[in-house]
Amino acid sequence: MGEQQSGSEAVEHHEVIVIGAGVAGIYALHRLREIGVDVVVLEAGEDAGGTWFWNRYPGCRFDSESYTYGYSFSEELLEEWHWKERFSPQPENLRYLQHVVEKFGLRNGMRFNQQLQKAGWNDETRRWHLSLGSGDTMTCDLLLPAIGLLSAPTLPRYEGQQDFTGQSFHTYHWPKDPIDMSELRVAVVGTGATGVQIIPAIAENVKSLHVFQRRPNWCAPLRNGPISDDEMAEIRSRYDEIFARCAETPGGFIHGPDDRSFHDADVSERLELWEWLYEQPGFGIWLANFREVLMEEDANAELSAFIANKIRERVNDPVVAEKLIPKDHGFGVQRVPMETNYFEAYNRDNVTLVDISEEPIDRIVAEGIKTSADTYEFDLIIYATGFDAITGAFDRIEFIGKDGRRLRDEWEKGPRTYLGVQVEGFPNLVMLAGPQGASVSTNFPRAIETSVDWAADLISHMRDNDLRTIECTREAQDDWVQEVENLYGMVLLRNARGWFTGYNSNVDGRDVKRHVIYNGGAPRYRKKLEKSVADNYDGFVLT
Ligand code: NAP
Repeated sequence: MGEQQSGSEAVEHHEVIVIGAGVAGIYALHRLREIGVDVVVLEAGEDAGGTWFWNRYPGCRFDSESYTYGYSFSEELLEEWHWKERFSPQPENLRYLQHVVEKFGLRNGMRFNQQLQKAGWNDETRRWHLSLGSGDTMTCDLLLPAIGLLSAPTLPRYEGQQDFTGQSFHTYHWPKDPIDMSELRVAVVGTGATGVQIIPAIAENVKSLHVFQRRPNWCAPLRNGPISDDEMAEIRSRYDEIFARCAETPGGFIHGPDDRSFHDADVSERLELWEWLYEQPGFGIWLANFREVLMEEDANAELSAFIANKIRERVNDPVVAEKLIPKDHGFGVQRVPMETNYFEAYNRDNVTLVDISEEPIDRIVAEGIKTSADTYEFDLIIYATGFDAITGAFDRIEFIGKDGRRLRDEWEKGPRTYLGVQVEGFPNLVMLAGPQGASVSTNFPRAIETSVDWAADLISHMRDNDLRTIECTREAQDDWVQEVENLYGMVLLRNARGWFTGYNSNVDGRDVKRHVIYNGGAPRYRKKLEKSVADNYDGFVLT
């Protein structure tokens, strides 16, 4: 740490500033300190934990197997931590991350309640100049955003939201103190992964629950369960094998695609696989399926019909069941929410599905929600309406690169990056979970360990060779964007209207599809990063 004069004021300077103390920021601080970098983390929240700090809603939990979500960098950490459930719940996940912070002495490198408002590159000082919400300013040589993919929550834009006299909030801002909902008439708006977790978690504990569904999602059973001491010991003995498996699958999970072709399997073999996968815990039905189901319309339609029948079997009222079956997209082309008794919740007398594709919401009123057909009265409205994903957190910070170029403008029609780590015109900005990188579409901790290690190696390389700046070239960026676009062309999710295509109806300019994620899989992505390094940082200019 040092100080430099800016006008009459001394400005705090660091070699590296990381933005965000979530899963990526925590590891980045540890890793960079290990190689002797002067680094601090700025965090907008009051404590570390990122997504697991903010999302405190009932039912919130991993849908990655817990033992694939923990960090892999420390044997000691792996040995001492006991994951209690196969898909660990939020309070335990937050405890885990804060345990990591304490264990590795990271807290003193973190500054909380620090909202970065503006970051400007100065070509003369070759530094980033940061302005914080507190009024403080800081400078750094390298700026590493670790600001999350799903950290910019978005509310709907219904008229009258302020008029509601009960309590209402977005799931991301669930209050810290528990809410007794037993006497409350509750509404949940939204049926993405968040809504699908909350709805069954609260259905038994509320007076009444109305679910406002715009479009149903294809969901699959999570099949959570406890992990005993013996099982945990067995998992510990296999950690090398588990992480090796995660490293070879496209999604960084233990689930990888079936080796057979959909077309070589006959109908009974397909059904046999699907019945089996439907009974298995986790993302298997989505990610351990035939590759063709996510790439070919016919294969996808057959799988979708299979899942639709599962929904019909689980929901008593056939009219409700049909409303819960997506008709505008096939299984797995949007992010699949994992559920525990989600469909059974609609069999309860106190739960009502309101299909707002048929009965649109007119506005929010003092007593509740007014649709085209009725006015529903509530004490609590929960907005599970999702996020301005992937680029939203970047948009909320004013990044100004060379020649006054604003990142927000550069990305107006969609993000443009090289390998998801850099943007041309923004030297020394190294994104740890940037758009068009692999962290966006894979098991997050597995992916960010790759990007943090890559950034640490880069910093060592720059130090060893007396280099002060890194910036990707326009050509390399254009080629990468083209590759990202081509990969969208190969998968059915190109048709989806969800956050995998950067779509959000609640944000101006985001109700269009964009190329925001890298669909080539984590192993291929890692090879691209490695190749660039091996070719002397091909695609980057280091000075
Ligand atoms: P989401 O998947 O974007 O779902 C948002 C929901 O709100 C959708 O059902 C959407 O309907 C609805 N909605 C949005 N705006 C609306 C409006 N104006 N009026 C009515 N309905 C509206 O968001 P999410 O459920 O928060 O999940 C986002 C991502 O977070 C997930 O895909 C997942 O990656 C992550 N997540 C992970 C976990 C986990 O790992 N365990 C849990 C929760 C979330 P439409 O479909 O019609 O747009």
